[in-house]
Amino acid sequence: MPAKEPLGPFCQSCSMPLEKPDDFGTDQAGYRENDYCRHCYKGGAFTEPDMTMEQMLDVSVGFMVRQGIMPEASARALLGDVMPRLKRWCASASARPLAAAGSGREIAGDPEC
Ligand SMILES: [Zn+2]
Repeated sequence: MPAKEPLGPFCQSCSMPLEKPDDFGTDQAGYRENDYCRHCYKGGAFTEPDMTMEQMLDVSVGFMVRQGIMPEASARALLGDVMPRLKRWCASASARPLAAAGSGREIAGDPEC
């Protein structure tokens, strides 16, 4: 079992683990949305529709550091690997031109997207 993959379902937007029924987002009818957490998805829509993956990564890294889950460098490395493969960002990464921010990282050609 790969050690760095989170167990169980996790939010396909911010990568938060979805452990309790309360953690899940809701669709238009108020039913559970299995792919997203309640912070990201509510009533059938994203709570922050204009957020970019980079912004979400910063938010999630900050959260993990504050919660004492792992230090910032580790959180950044983990999320930088996981996030581009989440459903929300997979779709948008291929739809918009990739901004070369000098990171040297490539998203293209990921078989899981
Ligand atoms: Zn989320």
